[in-house]
Order: sequence, then C-alpha cells, then structure tokens
Amino acid sequence: MNNKSIWNYDINYNKSNNIKNEVLDILIIGGGITGINIAYQFRNSNKKIALIDKSLIASGITKNTTAKLSYLQPDIIKIDKNKRDEYVKSQIDAVKLFKKIITDNNIECDFKETYSILFTQNNNNINKIKTIANILKNNKINVKRVKNNKILYGIKCLDNYVFNPLKYIDSIIKLIEDKIDIYENVLAKNIKYNNNIYNVDTSSGVIKCKRVILACHYPFFIYPLFFPLKTYIKREYVNAFNIDKNKDYNVINIDKELISIRYYNNYLIYGSNSHKLTSKINYQKNYQKSYEDTKKYFNKIPDYTWMNQDIVPNDYLPFIGRIKDNLYISTAYNAWGMTNSIIGSKIIYDVVNNKYNKYIKLFNPNRNNIKLYLNSFINSFSYIKVYFESLFKKNNPKYIKIKNIYYGIYKDSNNKIHKIRLICPHMKCNLVFNNQEKTWDCPCHGSRFDLDGNIINGPSKTNLKKDE
Ligand SMILES: Cc1cc2nc3c(=O)[nH]c(=O)nc-3n(C[C@H](O)[C@H](O)[C@H](O)COP(=O)(O)OP(=O)(O)OC[C@H]3O[C@@H](n4cnc5c(N)ncnc54)[C@H](O)[C@@H]3O)c2cc1C
Repeated sequence: MNNKSIWNYDINYNKSNNIKNEVLDILIIGGGITGINIAYQFRNSNKKIALIDKSLIASGITKNTTAKLSYLQPDIIKIDKNKRDEYVKSQIDAVKLFKKIITDNNIECDFKETYSILFTQNNNNINKIKTIANILKNNKINVKRVKNNKILYGIKCLDNYVFNPLKYIDSIIKLIEDKIDIYENVLAKNIKYNNNIYNVDTSSGVIKCKRVILACHYPFFIYPLFFPLKTYIKREYVNAFNIDKNKDYNVINIDKELISIRYYNNYLIYGSNSHKLTSKINYQKNYQKSYEDTKKYFNKIPDYTWMNQDIVPNDYLPFIGRIKDNLYISTAYNAWGMTNSIIGSKIIYDVVNNKYNKYIKLFNPNRNNIKLYLNSFINSFSYIKVYFESLFKKNNPKYIKIKNIYYGIYKDSNNKIHKIRLICPHMKCNLVFNNQEKTWDCPCHGSRFDLDGNIINGPSKTNLKKDE
C-alpha cells in the first residue's frame, strides 16, 4: 500500500531559495492551489511579484485533495439563509472562471465534465437535500432526482468537473514563471509593517514588499485575525483502488459518516471518516477504519491510502480579502478549495486593484457574526478535552516527563532514537503521535511535524524543540 496520494508524483521545480534583494510590489506566501491561482491572476500586471513556499510547490494540502469542482456541497445548508444564494453564485462563477483558464491556455490536466450526486440514507436529511436542490434551481442549475434502490434520496446536477490538481498547477507554473519569481524552501516567520512597506522575516532573510498575500492555508500569526477562534480543522481519509472501468460521475452524501467518490483513470477515489481534528485523536485507528471500509464496501484493497485536513470556518464561509493595510488572505474553504481558491484569486486581484467585486462582503475576513463566536465557544470545550486526552495517550512512542515538560521518544526501524518536546509552538497544545505516517500532529490547529520535529504543516512557524 502506498501512503501517498494518487497525484503525488515527484515534480521537482528546483526553485532556489536565494531571494533577490529588491523591494517587491507583491509577495505571495504559499504555493498551493491558492497561491498559484493568485499568481496567475497577476501574471500580466507588470508588477514585481514573488511567490515563496516553505517547502516545495504544491506539497501542502493541495497534493492530497480529491479535486472535484462541484455545486453539490452539503454544508450549503449550514450557511446563513440570506447568504446561501450568493455563495452558490460564487461557486458558479468559480467553475466558469476555471473552465476559461483551462480553455484559454489549453491546459492538459485531465479536466472532465461529470455529473455530481448528493444523497442521503437518513430520513432526517431528505429535507436538507430538497432545500439545497431549491437553492441550486433558483440559481438556474439544472437539478434532477436520482432514483436508485441503493440510496434513500438523492439529487444530481451537471456542469460539475474533476481534474488532476498537480497537472493543473504544473501548467500554471509554466505560464507564470517568467513573470513571477518563485522560491521554494523559504519559510515566512513574521510580518512587520513600517512606512507603507512590509518586512517579511523569512528563513532566507528579510523580504521587503508593498503588499503581502497570504495563501499559506493556515495563517502563521494569531493577531489580527484571531483565526483559531473562528475556525476548526476537519480531517478526512482517502483510499484509491483500481477498477475495470472509469465512470463519469462523482458522489457525496450529507450524512454523519462521509461517503465521497470520484473516478480518475482506472481508479475509484473514496473519501470517508471525516472528523473534527479534536475528536477521534487515535489517528492510526481512523486510517484503519477507512481502509477496512474500503474492503467492506468495495471488496478492494486500496492501492493508495492517505489523509488530508482542511480549515472549516465556524460560519461555513471562506475568509477572502483584505485583512488590514495591504495585507490580504484567501483560505478556510471547508474542503471546497478548488472552487473557492479560484474565486479567491479573482477577489484578491480586484481588491488589490481597487476594482468592484460582488463577493467582497460575503467573504470579508474581518466579518463578525454570532455564529463565528458561538461555535468557537462550543469548540473550546473540545480543545480542553483534547488537551488532557493527548496528555494521557501513551501508545507506541514512549512519553517521559522531565521538569514538568513532556517529551516523545520514538525508536525507528534502524533503532535510531528521535526525541522531541511534545508542545506545539503555535498555541502550546500537546502533540499526538500519528503512527501511520510517523508524524507528530497537533490535535488543536493541525500543525504537523516529522520525527525530528521539523514542520510539515503550519500554522506553527518553528520546528519542535528537542532538548532543554
Ligand atoms: C480529504 C480532502 C479532500 C478534498 N477534496 C476537495 C475536492 O474534491 N474539491 C475541492 O474543491 N476541495 C477539496 N478539498 C479542499 C482543498 O484540497 C483545499 O482547500 C486546498 O487544497 C487548499 O489549498 P491551499 O493552497 O489554500 O493550501 P495548501 O495546498 O496547503 O498550500 C499552502 C502552501 O503554503 C505553504 N506555507 C504554509 N505556511 C507557510 C509559511 N509560513 N511560509 C511559506 N510558505 C508556507 C505550504 O508549504 C503550502 O505549500 C479537499 C480537502 C480534503 C481535506
């Protein structure tokens, strides 16, 4: 079994981390689908622009996506009633924009029209699906009932798409790299604003620029957004296995136990076992469950098994736009980052250029509403629970306490000892061992570290301490 995603072929752009000494007009931080889409929007703007990534391009959340562009998003029902229509319109515009980029540039990324199905096996959820169908119909999307004796109730709609995200990014890089400087292995650590210039402190020195766009998934600072208070992290497990024939639809359900299916070449990609990061912290067990489910439901042994996590805003709307001064962000897509990153790139482009964009208010990253904070109050109980739960979890690696500090000690297959301090530098949560991928994961905000404490995923911007 392969612990990598199905897209995870080794593209190496060999970008340097030797930053040019100049004042930039725009610095984009993050080279996932968000950063790459934003860079594409600005490609002809005759500005000095650079994009940095702390590791390699497309090595973050994007490499583990399932890459469906779909209107049938179950959480539409959780968005405030008076904002649902506008959100759906933004997704329709996103799909149009995506299609235009693909056709204008003849991008080869296995982009394919499919129809999407949204279904339930639970009587209580039928009305939710009917409500979603009505919202989509109001927005002129052709929605039909699906009649199939394997499901209780379902709808389907056309004009949905699937593609290979890494092939897409590869093509965009080729279109932009002679206009925008791209650097890999450059970690942004801090941002200071002085006399209309940002000084971004990075692992390759200070970068000076007039505007900063955060495309780094989880922001690496807490103030001014207070992001951890308004969002939580959702994790999902994905398995892919060989089938005889590719099909031309994808499927998602609205029930508690996620079922998500799409096809790619001769593979079926099955997403399941979605959970809040603060619950089900025995990550090994979660992997096993989705692996076993694949065997049970499809009678197949997965060729690829992987996991991924995304940021869910407490009011289910992404954070896109100007934070303050000349600092911008696009993130928190609730596992719909293909559409939302493309609409995000257009919003950021318009805001930077003082142009009108009808979605600025909807996704305003500084918005305040009761839902954002009420859910955060509820979530705070799960943070407290997971804090203590992780303290007492003593599975495979050994945990020791020296002078009130917990250390994790892991002996690898070559008998090499890896010892790290078990506190996440971001907000001091206790780390949990992920035995499947041999990583230390923060169950609160999703930072991940390798056995030696090097960051794999933010928001932490520093490695773990090893010894005192
Ligand atoms: C299981 C799963 C399935 C999904 N399937 C779909 C789907 O079918 N359709 C859909 O629309 N969406 C889907 N999503 C959501 C989608 O994959 C994500 O929303 C999207 O990939 C996020 O992209 P990003 O560019 O914002 O983040 P990333 O891809 O993580 O990119 C951020 C980049 O920033 C870099 N970075 C981070 N911090 C720093 C720093 N301090 N300095 C420099 N660089 C930094 C990272 O190295 C990374 O490369 C899915 C999500 C999950 C969890």
